[in-house]
Amino acid sequence: MIGRDKICAVAAAADARSMWAQVRRARGVTRTIELRLDWLSDDAEIAKFLARLRAGQRANGMRATFIATCRRRKAGGKFTGTIAEQLVHLAEAIRCGCDWYDLEIETSSACPPELLDVLLGEGRRIASAHFFRRTPKNLKRVAVDLARTRPDAIKVAAYCDSLAESIDLLRLAPGRKNIVAVPMGDVALPARVLALRGGSALAYAPMENATAPGQVTLDVMKHLYRADLLRRKTRVYGVIGAPIGHSLSPILQNTGLRARKMDAVFLPFLVRDLRDFLQAVDPLGISGFSVTIPHKQTILRRLDDCDPMAAAIGAVNTVVVRGGGKLYGYNTDYVGVLRALERRIPLRGSRTLIFGAGGAARAVAFALAESGAVVCICARRMKQAEALARVVGGEAVERPRLRREFFDAIVNATPVGMYPHSDRAPLCAEELNCRLVFDLIYRPRSTKLLQIASRRGIETVSGIEMFVAQGTAQWEIWTGERAPESAMRRAVLRALRNEEKMAAR
Ligand code: NAP
Repeated sequence: MIGRDKICAVAAAADARSMWAQVRRARGVTRTIELRLDWLSDDAEIAKFLARLRAGQRANGMRATFIATCRRRKAGGKFTGTIAEQLVHLAEAIRCGCDWYDLEIETSSACPPELLDVLLGEGRRIASAHFFRRTPKNLKRVAVDLARTRPDAIKVAAYCDSLAESIDLLRLAPGRKNIVAVPMGDVALPARVLALRGGSALAYAPMENATAPGQVTLDVMKHLYRADLLRRKTRVYGVIGAPIGHSLSPILQNTGLRARKMDAVFLPFLVRDLRDFLQAVDPLGISGFSVTIPHKQTILRRLDDCDPMAAAIGAVNTVVVRGGGKLYGYNTDYVGVLRALERRIPLRGSRTLIFGAGGAARAVAFALAESGAVVCICARRMKQAEALARVVGGEAVERPRLRREFFDAIVNATPVGMYPHSDRAPLCAEELNCRLVFDLIYRPRSTKLLQIASRRGIETVSGIEMFVAQGTAQWEIWTGERAPESAMRRAVLRALRNEEKMAAR
């Protein structure tokens, strides 16, 4: 075992004071901390930081495992000094209380082992190799080369362009002691979180500054994904899409899993190549996934079977992996629309208008038509509106009619008004002649359209309602249990509030 905990916080800052502050914060979450001495601006800051470390260890003992790293430029770090200077800093770090040091292959292959023994013999060594551009073809060979330097542990970090490459990297670890596998890059983020489950001795997570591409912060690694608790039998779920970084689904779904104490995790998969993801379903043990732009339609061709309503809508946002790896698709956007509206207005017989005729509008139109509402569609391209109206037995409406006609509900299914263009509204006040306005957009929570409606005394429904409802429906399909909806909603609202606060700064 390398550290007391398997999630390793990475402290990296330009000055000793900030780096020490990171160490103290990290200590509240994990007892394994990597100290990136190469990030400190110069030798004086390194000396200042190590003096603090020594004083901290002497005063009360930090009761943590510290790994000292002073990576040179050549190996992807920031240290510009010579190899001799690098070794001197590492030796001092060991004297100041670091149990381990990480030495890249570029340095270890350039100095005789006896020198390392004399200078750094008191510490334990992680022999590391980093590949920031691509995963090498022969990973096993890399591991053998590292092991030849007789270290106490080896670490291979490689940029992965695909899930297939990340899985190859994770395959280095199982059944062997003290091997650290670090998949880098945005596509590899789920593999990075699943590394400990795959047998890696550590998973790295920065305090603030990302020291490698595709990292997730310590807080997210520990509290959102609970990476240190994931085991072989932990069920894996996720959301696939591109882009995926801003998806709120991991917060929504993991909150539900944690609240019900389920041995399961939900991860964001940046998927540009659907085939690469589908080939990873079995090796990563994925039990189900949610599907977002741009795969909602294309996934249909890859399914073994599909719910009839999803087939009629022509889009799938939820997939269950059944026995033998068979994929079954559903559309819970449809359920989300109904759950968001039903409790506010009786849908049967009511006259509704959908503005927009894209993918989401289709799910809304089917949901409303199925519930017995009269469905009218208005879109900037009349042909699109007519085509959608035809399939749901509704009516296409020309825009000028909106000023003269009354609807029970108007639904915005266009992205107009979405952050960062939050000052725009798809319809003006005179076009809102209705009892209720439902905006599918949830960033921001209160859109310009909803504000205009509210000023006219019209009831408003935010896209959050649909987002939470479609997500809880997914959760229930996957787990077979009732979703803890209020906890999930609170978590999403908190995240959106925080985002809005950050954006306002
Ligand atoms: P989409 O398939 O691209 O469709 C967008 C529709 O809006 C199209 O009809 C498009 O017309 C129209 N549109 C775009 N810009 C417009 C403009 N400036 N003026 C008038 N019409 C315009 O997108 P989608 O997947 O349906 O998503 C639509 C919105 O719903 C997004 O904001 C999305 O975030 C939201 N949504 C929310 C949830 C939720 O859970 N709350 C779920 C799904 C979607 P053209 O075809 O002419 O471009």
